[in-house]
Amino acid sequence: MYIVQIASECAPVIKAGGLGDVVYGLSTELENQGHCVELILPKYDCMRYDHIWGLHEAYLGLEVPWFGGVVTCTVFCGWVHGRVCFFIEPHSGDNFFNRGHYYGAIDDHMRFAFFSKAALEFLLVSNKRPDIIHCHDWQTGLIPVMLYEMYAWHGMDRQRVCYTIHNFKHQGVAGANVLWATGLNRESYYFQYDRLRDNFNPLALNYMKGGIVYSNHVNTVSPHHAWEARYSGISYGLGHTLEIHNDKFGGILNGIEYGVWNPDTDHYIAKNYNKDDISGKAANKKALRDRLLLADDDKPIVAFIGRLDDQKGVHLVHHAMYYALGRGGQFVLLGSATEQGINDWFWHEKCNLNENPDCHIELGFNEELAHLIYAAADIIVVPSNYEPCGLTQTIGLRYGAVPVVRGVGGLVNTVFDRDYDTTHEPDQRNGYVFYETDNNALESALDRALGLWSIYPEEFKKLAMQGMACDYSWKKPAEQYVGIYEHIRA
Ligand code: ADP
Repeated sequence: MYIVQIASECAPVIKAGGLGDVVYGLSTELENQGHCVELILPKYDCMRYDHIWGLHEAYLGLEVPWFGGVVTCTVFCGWVHGRVCFFIEPHSGDNFFNRGHYYGAIDDHMRFAFFSKAALEFLLVSNKRPDIIHCHDWQTGLIPVMLYEMYAWHGMDRQRVCYTIHNFKHQGVAGANVLWATGLNRESYYFQYDRLRDNFNPLALNYMKGGIVYSNHVNTVSPHHAWEARYSGISYGLGHTLEIHNDKFGGILNGIEYGVWNPDTDHYIAKNYNKDDISGKAANKKALRDRLLLADDDKPIVAFIGRLDDQKGVHLVHHAMYYALGRGGQFVLLGSATEQGINDWFWHEKCNLNENPDCHIELGFNEELAHLIYAAADIIVVPSNYEPCGLTQTIGLRYGAVPVVRGVGGLVNTVFDRDYDTTHEPDQRNGYVFYETDNNALESALDRALGLWSIYPEEFKKLAMQGMACDYSWKKPAEQYVGIYEHIRA
């Protein structure tokens, strides 16, 4: 099959979170399984150019209709760790992708509407006719809309769209001007409730809703989150739309790219190790402590890696930090906050704990350091308020860090409580789970993890090795996606 992935991220060249990991990992596994995969991405000024090989101009003078005129684009092509990627660079005063960041601009809805339009225009004029166009999140929600309503009339009528929702919170809402910009026009048509009109704001169009309505198949990134989205109100107002389109909606658990996340071959860590012998973790603990100026004592390292925002349960991250320190552990936090209040809060904590030899807070995004933390950590905490899939717990498992998680979304599908799980045999359990959002709940699980570490170290090691034996590679999820591609192609 010929598959084109269109997304706003692809790790490691463009990565703000799990979306980038998924786009790269899924594409790589699909190629391994014999399919032809190409990616279309924006050409941001701030992406990691050092991860692109052979970047060259592939299409000059791509004329993208925009607001009744045209914006001329150059399409570049390059290889990102083996994947063929096309990068779209528009030449206009808007400077859509030269902002020094990926997201967070006031005109994001226009930036990604333009990207969606340009990606389709590129497929059209370069005569690329993939079997499947796989779109991701709100940034590409307008692609199936434009494909079905416009490009199908220009000869792209055999392309089928799979639309994956990684996070329901960000849906992309815009006014009627996006219709005039993209050439969809027909305001009264698109503002109907069963098309793009936002379910709650009658004056807004909702890109993600468009993606759900117009795609051939829609999924989110774990079976449990698919259930939550349909039945528990976590879909931020799209529940009714999902109910209407229930027959084409499901959940596929994300994998992690085992070539990238492999403690046996990882170049970013101090000593390689594998699931049969995890003694190498000790050298990584030492390396992390040296790097972050932590005391080299016989203490467990508890870590958090992730975006610092409400979704990730920042109040519990904060509590986990002080609780772990109080229980005689060390705590390492690597995270970045886009909200000013949360950013200030953790900067304040960083200053407070600056002299503490058992704690390090690193604010910012640092891929290399993340690898070393996974390799050094004994325990990884993921106390999310909601979590469509979550990758840090599966990466933690791969590196022998025992996850302590809140039982929501994909965390339910990947972490099984050592003491209380009823669906897995004891030798298949891999972490600790709590359910409520208060401090006591977190303590109930973290306490058990720290207790096992200090009182029964051999049992703790066994649990970590059981986690390493779990298979969260892309093999099975990619096969499930291929099943969906084949189904919608037929
Ligand atoms: P998200 O909701 O952000 O997509 P996931 O758990 O699905 O969360 O994926 C997070 C990914 O981003 C993981 O690969 C994690 O290691 C990485 N990550 C998150 N924050 C940082 C950071 N500050 N520095 C380096 N890597 C990070």
